Amino acid sequence: MLILVVNCGSSSAKYDLFDVEKEASLCRGSVERIGEEGSSLTHESGENGKIHRDLSCPDHHRAIEIIRDMITDPEKGVLKDVSEVTGVGHRVVHGGEKFNTSTLINAEVIDTIERFVELAPLHNPPSLEGIRGCMKIFSGVPQVAVFDTAFHQSMPDHAFTYGIPYELYEKYRIRKYGFHGTSHRYVARKAAEELGRDPGEVNLITVHLGNGCSIAAVQKGKSVDTSMGFTPLEGLLMGTRSGDLDPALVTFLMQREDLSAEEVNDLMNKKSGLLGLSGISNDMRDILGAIDEGNARAELAYDVFVYRIKKYIGSYAAVLGRVDAVVLTAGIGENVPRIKEQLERELNPMFGGSTRFMSIGTNEELLIAKDTYKIVNSE
Ligand code: AMP
Repeated sequence: MLILVVNCGSSSAKYDLFDVEKEASLCRGSVERIGEEGSSLTHESGENGKIHRDLSCPDHHRAIEIIRDMITDPEKGVLKDVSEVTGVGHRVVHGGEKFNTSTLINAEVIDTIERFVELAPLHNPPSLEGIRGCMKIFSGVPQVAVFDTAFHQSMPDHAFTYGIPYELYEKYRIRKYGFHGTSHRYVARKAAEELGRDPGEVNLITVHLGNGCSIAAVQKGKSVDTSMGFTPLEGLLMGTRSGDLDPALVTFLMQREDLSAEEVNDLMNKKSGLLGLSGISNDMRDILGAIDEGNARAELAYDVFVYRIKKYIGSYAAVLGRVDAVVLTAGIGENVPRIKEQLERELNPMFGGSTRFMSIGTNEELLIAKDTYKIVNSE
């Protein structure tokens, strides 16, 4: 059974076509710079290697058409006919408090995702465009939404509630939601497999270290706390995001630097983190290179990055009581062994040597494909 996974961002549409029974990706690619000058398509398949094409792509609807035409291309495609696609799985960032699991898309689900645009103004609109485009272009094919927030809906209220007037929660649903849920769920399951244990009996701390970073306390297969919050800004230091800071800094910067609300938001989301501290780059490879050349600010950025992970692991160990494994994943988690080694060295005395430190490759697209397969098959 072939499942197409679609992940629409503000100016991109990524896709990955899976043979789910074989857990194999047949082809993947992305349309970039949608709605801008210089749009392009990159497509990669085992048979035909990598293709890059410059083209015009004014919106996400057109991007989905380009994807359909590419995967069914008589020369470079992998399908004879579009009807071979039996389901489309969509990554949707925000499912609010409504969705605690992946869901078959119908008109009501679309309305609800639309309502959550207020909570994720940058992320949910392109997902909706992708969904609407696929419903037209893959008409009659079941569509499934897989939410970044869903895995963390199991958090108890004392973990997701902020210490501000409760009426604001009631009015705006201001609370911690958490993100990267598909990645945390995927590696938690893989880690349990690697430990030879049932996912429902292990306690894990999963650490997603990509350009965005978050950490989750996973108790017996369920997320009970996570570092990202109402938005993805909270928590760990990230490529360009500050993570945790004193909220009073917002008004201080507005007053002293004469910044608007939007400018402060921009500063904390796009100019902070590894980039802001090092003054060099948001990319960990560049930070490591600069450290090797003796750059003190790069070293400080790295130290803040690792220290904060260590502090969160300590607090989640307190939440969980017993920790069977700490699992690092994503670009940095999978490729920078020195972080795992440092955490293991420094935290082992606290854990008494009973906790495994592991690095596991994440595969959110595969999990989206598997969820979609399950839901399409049960219909
Ligand atoms: P992701 O968002 O999962 O693609 O991760 C992006 C982050 O992973 C960036 O900070 C990259 O610098 C980092 N990364 C990817 N590959 C490597 C590598 N081989 N060594 C160090 N960092 C890496």
